[in-house]
Amino acid sequence: MKVAIPKERRAGELRVAASPETVKKLKGLGLDVVVESGAGLGSSITDAAFEAAGAAIAADAASALADADIVLKVQRPLIAAEGGEDELALVRKGALLFAILNPYSSRDHVKAYADAGVNAFAMEFMPRITRAQVMDVLSSQANLAGYKAVVDAAGEYGRAFPMMMTAAGTVPPARAFIMGVGVAGLQAIATAKRLGAIVSATDVRPAVKEQVQSLGGSFVAVENDEFRQAETAGGYAKEMSDDYKRQQAALVAEHIKKQDIVITTALIPGRKAPILVTAEHVASMKPGSVLIDLAVEQGGNVEGAKLGEVVTTANGVKIVGHANYASRIAESASLLYAKNLLALLTSLHGKDTGVAVNWDDEIVKAIALTRDGAVVHPAFAG
Ligand code: NAD
Repeated sequence: MKVAIPKERRAGELRVAASPETVKKLKGLGLDVVVESGAGLGSSITDAAFEAAGAAIAADAASALADADIVLKVQRPLIAAEGGEDELALVRKGALLFAILNPYSSRDHVKAYADAGVNAFAMEFMPRITRAQVMDVLSSQANLAGYKAVVDAAGEYGRAFPMMMTAAGTVPPARAFIMGVGVAGLQAIATAKRLGAIVSATDVRPAVKEQVQSLGGSFVAVENDEFRQAETAGGYAKEMSDDYKRQQAALVAEHIKKQDIVITTALIPGRKAPILVTAEHVASMKPGSVLIDLAVEQGGNVEGAKLGEVVTTANGVKIVGHANYASRIAESASLLYAKNLLALLTSLHGKDTGVAVNWDDEIVKAIALTRDGAVVHPAFAG
């Protein structure tokens, strides 16, 4: 069986869906691996490194993808309807495609996979069950994004994070406030703490209070009955009432004035991200403060955040809205993403069957978008 790893073609994407380590392991499963020349360069992996791990190097996408049974990608393939290159046309009928397919914002792609007879699997739909933890791309990428957000904030900030007592005087520590304590938020708390900031955090899920405190942060939230019940069975946040949002906003308004760094990560699956920081909040902050909006691609948590831009407001506050945070730390992100894919392929692999999809498996059911020319995922079928 042939596994192809083409170069990512979407703007700003530096990650790659394999590493020399995963190539070696895929070869160990008896699979042939072909990597498109230059696919790893954005993540500092040379063709030679892939070759040394056992991959064949193909000169272009067409030769990498020709006859491939399995295609590993980071982002969804370009399709003809986008008006440029058509990567999907290079994928053979019946091939298995694994990537972060972002189907909610690209329904025409889902139809295109079915029309092309490509069996497409959305890695971000990986269920959050113990067996699938090792394949959980949302976690592996969000963890790095949380780290990188703090490092970026430190770069944009004109003062120091830790308290410094020097002969020339004392530099006060930065105050960092993390809004949304999922995987990214937890790593942001830990990173800001390591850099010496005074860290606080908020979330609508009561379960995170202890986690924040165990990382040395303080927890900021209106802890009423609605808050105590606000967690879905899947562990995700649910939409809060308008009344709760008003009370929480008032609490945040007081807190945020004193913050130097604010990192927002709040998401609600399948919905636009909630606004947590209003223009008024931003206007109340000190000049030189930095906000990083990790939810900017889902509509943003910060009023005034612009996708792909660093905005400086009239009162001298920077609002950072970088797209695709994981790609900003591409080497580590590729390494972990590649391992998530390897774990999935290994679980689908049998000694006699090679990689074979069991369509009744809980993981496969959660991530499969298309099968044999039809859209099968319940959120997109029909
Ligand atoms: P996410 O990316 O969906 O959201 C980030 C955070 O924003 C969440 O903590 C959410 O509660 C919070 N949020 C949403 N609306 C908010 C608001 N109005 N104000 C403040 N905060 C708000 O979250 P995630 O990182 O994907 O994690 C979601 C859950 O999944 C967590 O419970 C996490 O522990 C769990 N998880 C489980 C596994 C596993 O078991 N395999 C793996 C990873 C994560």
